[in-house]
Amino acid sequence: MIEICHIGLGANLGDPLAQIDWAITALADLPASHLEAVAPRYRSRAMGPGRQPDYINTAVRLRTALQPLSLLRQLQRLEDLRGRTREVRWGPRTLDLDLLLYGDHCVSTPELTLPHPGLGVRNFVLAPLLDLDPHLCLPDGRRVASLLARVGCAGIVRLSDREPQ
Ligand code: AMP
Repeated sequence: MIEICHIGLGANLGDPLAQIDWAITALADLPASHLEAVAPRYRSRAMGPGRQPDYINTAVRLRTALQPLSLLRQLQRLEDLRGRTREVRWGPRTLDLDLLLYGDHCVSTPELTLPHPGLGVRNFVLAPLLDLDPHLCLPDGRRVASLLARVGCAGIVRLSDREPQ
Protein backbone atom coordinates (compact mmCIF):
# COMPACT_ATOMS: atom_id res chain seq x y z
CA MET A 1 0.00 0.00 0.00
CA ILE A 2 1.25 3.45 -0.88
CA GLU A 3 0.23 6.27 1.47
CA ILE A 4 0.61 10.02 1.49
CA CYS A 5 2.01 11.24 4.77
CA HIS A 6 3.10 14.54 6.26
CA ILE A 7 6.15 15.00 8.45
CA GLY A 8 6.92 18.01 10.64
CA LEU A 9 10.52 19.16 11.05
CA GLY A 10 11.95 21.36 13.79
CA ALA A 11 15.41 22.35 15.02
CA ASN A 12 16.74 24.96 17.40
CA LEU A 13 20.36 24.03 18.03
CA GLY A 14 23.56 23.77 16.00
CA ASP A 15 22.66 25.88 12.93
CA PRO A 16 18.94 24.98 12.69
CA LEU A 17 18.60 25.87 9.00
CA ALA A 18 21.44 23.52 8.13
CA GLN A 19 19.86 20.78 10.28
CA ILE A 20 16.58 21.19 8.41
CA ASP A 21 18.35 21.11 5.03
CA TRP A 22 20.19 17.95 6.07
CA ALA A 23 16.92 16.33 7.17
CA ILE A 24 15.18 17.14 3.89
CA THR A 25 18.00 15.52 1.94
CA ALA A 26 17.84 12.49 4.25
CA LEU A 27 14.04 12.23 3.90
CA ALA A 28 14.44 12.26 0.12
CA ASP A 29 16.68 9.19 0.53
CA LEU A 30 14.29 7.13 2.66
CA PRO A 31 13.63 3.64 1.28
CA ALA A 32 10.36 2.90 -0.56
CA SER A 33 9.44 6.57 -0.41
CA HIS A 34 9.23 9.63 -2.61
CA LEU A 35 9.55 13.16 -1.26
CA GLU A 36 6.80 15.08 -3.06
CA ALA A 37 6.90 18.59 -1.61
CA VAL A 38 8.70 20.75 0.94
CA ALA A 39 6.98 23.70 2.67
CA PRO A 40 8.65 27.06 3.32
CA ARG A 41 10.66 27.42 6.52
CA TYR A 42 9.23 29.24 9.53
CA ARG A 43 11.00 30.81 12.47
CA SER A 44 9.05 30.20 15.68
CA ARG A 45 9.43 30.99 19.34
CA ALA A 46 10.35 27.98 21.47
CA MET A 47 7.50 26.71 23.65
CA GLY A 48 9.62 24.57 25.99
CA PRO A 49 11.09 25.29 29.43
CA GLY A 50 13.41 28.24 30.13
CA ARG A 51 15.00 30.46 27.51
CA GLN A 52 15.73 28.61 24.31
CA PRO A 53 16.80 29.72 20.84
CA ASP A 54 14.04 30.16 18.24
CA TYR A 55 13.09 27.12 16.19
CA ILE A 56 13.16 26.67 12.47
CA ASN A 57 10.14 24.60 11.41
CA THR A 58 8.84 23.21 8.16
CA ALA A 59 6.89 20.21 6.86
CA VAL A 60 7.13 17.81 3.95
CA ARG A 61 4.75 15.58 2.05
CA LEU A 62 6.03 12.07 1.41
CA ARG A 63 4.55 9.23 -0.64
CA THR A 64 5.66 6.01 1.03
CA ALA A 65 5.23 2.25 1.06
CA LEU A 66 6.67 2.08 4.60
CA GLN A 67 4.23 1.14 7.36
CA PRO A 68 3.65 3.86 9.99
CA LEU A 69 5.90 2.28 12.64
CA SER A 70 8.69 1.61 10.16
CA LEU A 71 8.49 5.22 9.05
CA LEU A 72 8.56 6.44 12.67
CA ARG A 73 11.69 4.36 13.30
CA GLN A 74 13.32 5.82 10.20
CA LEU A 75 12.57 9.32 11.53
CA GLN A 76 14.03 8.43 14.93
CA ARG A 77 17.13 7.04 13.23
CA LEU A 78 17.63 10.37 11.47
CA GLU A 79 17.12 12.27 14.76
CA ASP A 80 19.71 10.06 16.41
CA LEU A 81 22.17 10.63 13.58
CA ARG A 82 22.03 14.34 14.38
CA GLY A 83 22.81 13.61 18.01
CA ARG A 84 19.45 14.53 19.42
CA THR A 85 19.26 14.08 23.17
CA ARG A 86 15.94 13.10 24.75
CA GLU A 87 16.53 14.09 28.39
CA VAL A 88 14.28 17.14 28.62
CA ARG A 89 10.71 17.05 27.37
CA TRP A 90 10.26 19.99 25.02
CA GLY A 91 13.93 20.85 25.63
CA PRO A 92 16.21 22.19 22.91
CA ARG A 93 16.95 19.77 20.10
CA THR A 94 19.16 19.54 17.06
CA LEU A 95 16.44 17.83 15.06
CA ASP A 96 12.85 16.85 15.79
CA LEU A 97 10.91 14.83 13.20
CA ASP A 98 7.22 14.17 13.86
CA LEU A 99 4.93 11.95 11.85
CA LEU A 100 1.98 14.34 11.62
CA LEU A 101 -0.37 12.47 9.33
CA TYR A 102 -0.26 9.10 7.63
CA GLY A 103 -3.12 9.20 5.19
CA ASP A 104 -6.35 8.96 7.18
CA HIS A 105 -4.91 6.49 9.67
CA CYS A 106 -5.76 6.93 13.35
CA VAL A 107 -3.39 5.18 15.75
CA SER A 108 -3.18 5.31 19.53
CA THR A 109 -0.37 3.18 20.95
CA PRO A 110 2.40 4.02 23.45
CA GLU A 111 4.89 4.38 20.60
CA LEU A 112 2.81 6.10 17.95
CA THR A 113 -0.16 8.45 17.95
CA LEU A 114 -1.77 9.48 14.66
CA PRO A 115 -2.59 12.17 13.86
CA HIS A 116 0.28 13.62 15.90
CA PRO A 117 -1.25 14.84 19.20
CA GLY A 118 0.07 18.41 18.98
CA LEU A 119 -0.98 18.94 15.39
CA GLY A 120 -4.26 20.77 15.91
CA VAL A 121 -2.95 23.42 18.29
CA ARG A 122 0.55 24.30 17.04
CA ASN A 123 0.70 27.09 14.51
CA PHE A 124 4.31 26.27 13.55
CA VAL A 125 3.02 22.84 12.41
CA LEU A 126 -0.27 23.96 10.86
CA ALA A 127 1.18 26.85 8.82
CA PRO A 128 3.67 24.81 6.75
CA LEU A 129 1.07 22.03 6.36
CA LEU A 130 -1.35 24.55 4.91
CA ASP A 131 1.35 25.81 2.54
CA LEU A 132 1.80 22.25 1.29
CA ASP A 133 -1.89 21.39 0.92
CA PRO A 134 -4.37 24.28 1.19
CA HIS A 135 -7.36 21.91 1.32
CA LEU A 136 -5.88 19.40 3.76
CA CYS A 137 -8.24 17.91 6.38
CA LEU A 138 -7.57 15.74 9.41
CA PRO A 139 -9.09 12.24 9.48
CA ASP A 140 -11.97 13.62 11.59
CA GLY A 141 -12.80 16.12 8.86
CA ARG A 142 -11.43 19.29 10.50
CA ARG A 143 -9.71 21.56 8.00
CA VAL A 144 -6.11 22.58 8.63
CA ALA A 145 -7.02 26.09 7.41
CA SER A 146 -9.75 26.39 10.06
CA LEU A 147 -7.48 25.09 12.81
CA LEU A 148 -4.78 27.63 11.90
CA ALA A 149 -7.34 30.43 11.78
CA ARG A 150 -8.40 29.50 15.32
CA VAL A 151 -4.85 29.21 16.71
CA GLY A 152 -3.54 32.34 14.96
CA CYS A 153 -0.04 33.09 13.74
CA ALA A 154 1.49 34.77 16.80
CA GLY A 155 5.15 33.89 17.28
CA ILE A 156 5.81 32.48 13.82
CA VAL A 157 7.36 34.15 10.77
CA ARG A 158 7.61 32.61 7.34
CA LEU A 159 11.16 33.01 6.05
CA SER A 160 11.46 34.39 2.57
CA ASP A 161 14.46 33.60 0.41
CA ARG A 162 15.65 37.16 0.91
CA GLU A 163 15.47 37.33 4.67
CA PRO A 164 18.85 37.37 6.43
CA GLN A 165 19.23 34.21 8.50
P1 AMP B 1 9.09 14.10 21.06
O1 AMP B 1 10.24 14.14 21.99
O2 AMP B 1 8.03 15.10 21.37
O3 AMP B 1 9.50 14.12 19.60
O4 AMP B 1 8.38 12.69 21.29
C1 AMP B 1 9.03 11.50 20.92
C2 AMP B 1 8.14 10.34 21.38
O5 AMP B 1 6.83 10.51 20.87
C3 AMP B 1 8.67 9.01 20.92
O6 AMP B 1 8.74 8.15 22.03
C4 AMP B 1 7.62 8.51 19.93
O7 AMP B 1 7.46 7.11 20.02
C5 AMP B 1 6.39 9.25 20.37
N1 AMP B 1 5.41 9.51 19.31
C6 AMP B 1 4.09 9.18 19.37
N2 AMP B 1 3.45 9.54 18.26
C7 AMP B 1 4.37 10.13 17.46
C8 AMP B 1 4.29 10.70 16.16
N3 AMP B 1 3.13 10.76 15.46
N4 AMP B 1 5.44 11.22 15.62
C9 AMP B 1 6.60 11.19 16.33
N5 AMP B 1 6.74 10.65 17.58
C10 AMP B 1 5.63 10.12 18.12
